[in-house]
Amino acid sequence: MPQVLYSSVKYSGYDPAGTLPGKFGRLLAAAGFAERVKGRSVAVKMHVGRGVGYTTISPLFVKMVTDRVKEAGGRPFITDQTVEDAKTRGYSESLFGCPVLDCCGLLGKYYYEKRVDYKGFTHVDVAGYIHDAEVMVNLSHVKGHGACGYGGACKNIAMGCVTDRTRREIHGLEGGLVWDKNKCTRCNACITGCNHNANKFTESGEYDVFYHNCTLCQHCVKACPAQAITLDSDCYEDFQTGMALCTKEVLGTFAPGDVYHINFLTNITFLCDCWGISTPALVPDIGIMASHDIVALESACLGAIKEENLLKDGLPQGHVMQPGTHLLEKIHAKNPYIQIGKLQGMGLGSDDYTLCEIE
Ligand code: SF4
Ligand code: SF4
Repeated sequence: MPQVLYSSVKYSGYDPAGTLPGKFGRLLAAAGFAERVKGRSVAVKMHVGRGVGYTTISPLFVKMVTDRVKEAGGRPFITDQTVEDAKTRGYSESLFGCPVLDCCGLLGKYYYEKRVDYKGFTHVDVAGYIHDAEVMVNLSHVKGHGACGYGGACKNIAMGCVTDRTRREIHGLEGGLVWDKNKCTRCNACITGCNHNANKFTESGEYDVFYHNCTLCQHCVKACPAQAITLDSDCYEDFQTGMALCTKEVLGTFAPGDVYHINFLTNITFLCDCWGISTPALVPDIGIMASHDIVALESACLGAIKEENLLKDGLPQGHVMQPGTHLLEKIHAKNPYIQIGKLQGMGLGSDDYTLCEIE
């Protein structure tokens, strides 16, 4: 049964060793991944964020990872889809003492193409520097995500270890609403009925939905006097299937056991870090979880985010909750467990795990 290591933010005194950095040091020692890095190149894949976002993983923790890799004889480098303004949030080569690289190269043209075949998603362009690394530490900040409910280890790989083309193809799988142009009278009731700025008519007259904002509330469906819009509820799940497929291809470039996943459950915000903004946390900080098994880790993280702990200031004012079984599903109207189930179905891990607390 896979093991998930867990360090809680809870503390009992004023000794730094009893706070999260102290616990993280012991978690890294217990994780055992350092034994695999001697003499090898190690990609530390993180989301360095954008713009004025300030709730990505603190550079203090990132440096603990790179120091640990170096102490064990490995050659670390930090990488993300783009690290253009990473320095503004403290992710600098001078701090870490190792390179900070765009994973597809400066021009975004360094990648290895793999083929998949899923509803128009056909290219997994694995980032060159990820593909060439011998070991990967998948260092993810957990948060909500408009397109899939939850962003963690799977999203950090699927959206961050590939080219723009692959990301576009995965986003192309988003859906849920089906519009019949032959029935539509262009009355605009669906547009005025949407409280989420999620729909519009394009200049060429096509009904267009921005699924990141869309909560699948069906107000547009109900507002339409011509029954021109229907809900195909399976469709929004395709995005998560695409993410899982992509993750499988990226992980397949590493030998078994050469990827270690670490999720930070701190500053769990409404939106993904790619928005370049930070908002108040949705729930109090939880801690850090880590595992060799991505399914076990993601399952443990989702299980730790509890609805009863919701901090209302973390939601946009006036946000309307939707039906669902998990807090993030109620917030974003997308069941976040779908990506986990797909990963498990592809043989990438098990949601039957043991949780081992590192004090
Ligand atoms: S389902 Fe709801 S959020 Fe989505 S486009 Fe229709 S009215 Fe807007
Ligand atoms: S409400 Fe229905 S008929 Fe009116 S514009 Fe929207 S889709 Fe077309």
